Amino acid sequence: MKANFNPARNIQNLQFFGEFGGVNPSIEDSSTFTFLKAQRMEELFEKELEGCYLYSRHWNPTNHYLSEALARMENTESAMVTASGMAAITSTLLQLCSAGDEIVSSRMVYGGTYAFLKNIAPRFGIHTRFVDITRPDVVEEAITPRTKVLYCESMSNPLLEVTDIPALALLARRHRLQLVVDNTFTPMIISPANLGADVVIHSLTKFINGTSDTVAGVICARHELIHQLSDVHSGTVMLLGPVMDSVRAASVLKNLHSLHVRIKQHSANAAFLAQRFLEYGVKVRYPGLTRHPQHELMKQMMNGDFGFGGMIVLNLDTKERAYTLMEKMQQANLGYLAVSLGFYKTLFSSPGSSTSSEIPQEERKAMGLTDGLVRMSIGLDEAMPDTWARLKPCLDEVEKMRVVVE
Ligand code: PLP
Repeated sequence: MKANFNPARNIQNLQFFGEFGGVNPSIEDSSTFTFLKAQRMEELFEKELEGCYLYSRHWNPTNHYLSEALARMENTESAMVTASGMAAITSTLLQLCSAGDEIVSSRMVYGGTYAFLKNIAPRFGIHTRFVDITRPDVVEEAITPRTKVLYCESMSNPLLEVTDIPALALLARRHRLQLVVDNTFTPMIISPANLGADVVIHSLTKFINGTSDTVAGVICARHELIHQLSDVHSGTVMLLGPVMDSVRAASVLKNLHSLHVRIKQHSANAAFLAQRFLEYGVKVRYPGLTRHPQHELMKQMMNGDFGFGGMIVLNLDTKERAYTLMEKMQQANLGYLAVSLGFYKTLFSSPGSSTSSEIPQEERKAMGLTDGLVRMSIGLDEAMPDTWARLKPCLDEVEKMRVVVE
C-alpha cells in the first residue's frame, strides 16, 4: 500500500505542450505516419520505437498523452486507451487467457462483462467460475491449476459491494494469477494497483470523462502487458482494433483534469442524500454509511480526500414503486431516467431490468439484485437541501403506493 497517494497530484505533475506552445497538447489528426527511411518502418514492425508512430490503430500521440495521464492516476507503469470500457475488458481477458484457461470472477460485475464471460469467452475455450468475491475462502476454492485471472470490480455494479483488493492480491500472488480490477465506480478514490492489482480497467465513459458525450475505456498495467496488447502480430487491441479516436482522446484528457474536483462533489452530494434517505426510512445502500457491510474495509483502502463515491442504491421492494420513483424524479427535473453514471446531472435506472438484465434471474435473486432497485449516480447539484426538498415529495408519492398495495 502507498500511504498518502494522491492521484490528482500525480496527474498535475505532467506537462504537455501543443506543437506551437499551446496549453493543450496538439491533436494528431492522422491515421498513418511517414518515414524518412524504409528500414525504420521495418524496425517498427519488429519492436516499438520511442516517439515513432506507424498507424493510429497501433498508437497515436494524442492517445499516448491520455494514456500516460491515466497511468499516472492509477500509479501503473503504463496504460492504453480503447474505444470503450468493454473493449478494455475483453481485450485484456483475451490477451491474458487462451483456450483451456479459466477465470475466477466476481458474480457481481457489470452485466456486459458478465454476458461476455458467460456467452462469448467460452466460444474461445475460456471458462469462468462466478463467485461471491467478498468471501476470499470461496474465491480460493474456485481456483484450479487452469485459472489465469481473478476478476472483480473495486466497487461492484450495481450493488456497491466493496472488494477486499489486498486479500485478492495475496491469493493472486499465491496462485500466480493476474488480478484484474475494474475501477470504474471509484476513480481517484481507490487505487487498485497500490493495493496489489496487476491490471486496472476503467470505462472512461463514466466519471472520468464526466460529460456523457463519449464511450471510451483504458487498461492500466505494467509495460510488458501494454506492449503485448499493442503488438503488431499478437496484440488484442491492435488486432481486434478498438482504437480510440484522437479527437475524443484530447477531449477526455481535458475533462480528466477536473476529475478530482468533480469526484469530491459527487461524493459529498451522495453522502448528503444517503443520510436523508436513511432518515426517511428507505432501504439505502451507500458505502459511506457505517451500516454498509464493507464501510470499514473501504476506509482502509481509499485514498483519503475523495469521499465514498457518487453512487447510491435504493431498494423500493417492487418494480412498480421503483419505476414510479424514477418517473417522478425525472418530472421534477431531479435528473434523468437513463443508464450510465458520472454525469453532472443525477442519472437513475433500475439495474434488474436494464444494465444487469444479462445476469440470469436465479443468480440475480441469489445476489439480492431485485426488481425494486434504483441505482442512482448523484450529480453535481449545488444546493443539496433544495434537491432533497424536491425529492422528498417523489418518495411520498411512492409511499402512498405502498399503502394501496398492502
Ligand atoms: N465496467 C463497468 C463497471 C460499467 O458500469 C460499464 C458500463 O456501464 C462498463 C464497464 C462498460 O463500459 P463501456 O460502456 O464504456 O463499454
